[in-house]
Amino acid sequence: MLDDLFIRLDQLVPGSSVFLKLEGLNPAGSVKLKTAVALVTAAEESGLRFPRTHLIESTSGNLGVALAMVCAAKGYPLTLVTDPNATVRTRRLMAVLGAEVVVIETRDAHGGFLQSRIDYIGERLRADPDLHWLNQYANPAGPQAHRDRTGRAVVEGIGRLDYAFIGAGTTGTLMGCAEYLRRHSPATRIVAVDAVGSVTFGGPAARRHLPGLGTSRRPEILDTKNIDEVVLISEADSVEMCRTLARERGLLLGGSTGTVLCAVQDAAKKIPEGSVVVAISPDFGDRYLETIYDDAWVADRWPDVVGH
Ligand code: PMP
Repeated sequence: MLDDLFIRLDQLVPGSSVFLKLEGLNPAGSVKLKTAVALVTAAEESGLRFPRTHLIESTSGNLGVALAMVCAAKGYPLTLVTDPNATVRTRRLMAVLGAEVVVIETRDAHGGFLQSRIDYIGERLRADPDLHWLNQYANPAGPQAHRDRTGRAVVEGIGRLDYAFIGAGTTGTLMGCAEYLRRHSPATRIVAVDAVGSVTFGGPAARRHLPGLGTSRRPEILDTKNIDEVVLISEADSVEMCRTLARERGLLLGGSTGTVLCAVQDAAKKIPEGSVVVAISPDFGDRYLETIYDDAWVADRWPDVVGH
């Protein structure tokens, strides 16, 4: 995995150094390859009876693609339970890599799909004793992978670090990086970035359209002890940031990267000159050509954003 690639976006915080860590360069195209390898390895170490055991997981997209790759390479059958917010391209990638893809269309009580996806997995588990749920929302293997890889790479790659901006979906990346930073770079201010409408940090639920960040059910692995600040960004602002960076800087980044960079930009006035800032970019934008980068798709949801 390519853990030492950063680009500079110093313009976002004038007078400071801003590093963007490009996780889209991993095979499987996202930060979630590390999570996928860790979840499957933990399942193997727990003594499952492979190859009879069949793996199942709930995913908004990127973990599914990464798991499909890992399971295809290892010969494990895999079912991925996703929802309409996962792009058609992502669902096709999962299927091409040999996974069974189930799309859950029923919204849960918070207007999202997560609880409905998990309820479906519960039904499948009750019906099939050979099925094993990897459960990225509760499995400590995910945060551990990010502590040992992503967090370490940030500290070793950059050195002195004053601020870290990290997006929260399952919170695996955030929890792992925060744990490593607290121990090895205790002065770093750790900023969790989430979408408006996510319930992860206790905010009111609202309908969301972008996969990656946010939940409609608080993840079990979340522990706020190492988090210094939580910032919520609207999806419209995230989309606008992505489209501006593509047109004006030549950077084609995923939606959650836009969200994290909005948080960096909003904090710029409070960040003292000469600070060193890191932000994590979970994936690139080529997976979102039919959504974030499609004028009609965006105009349908946020009419004010198109044209920017
Ligand atoms: N951004 C994208 C594009 C993702 O796919 C994910 C994973 N859901 C995240 C951010 C959040 O990562 P994590 O689940 O580790 O919080």
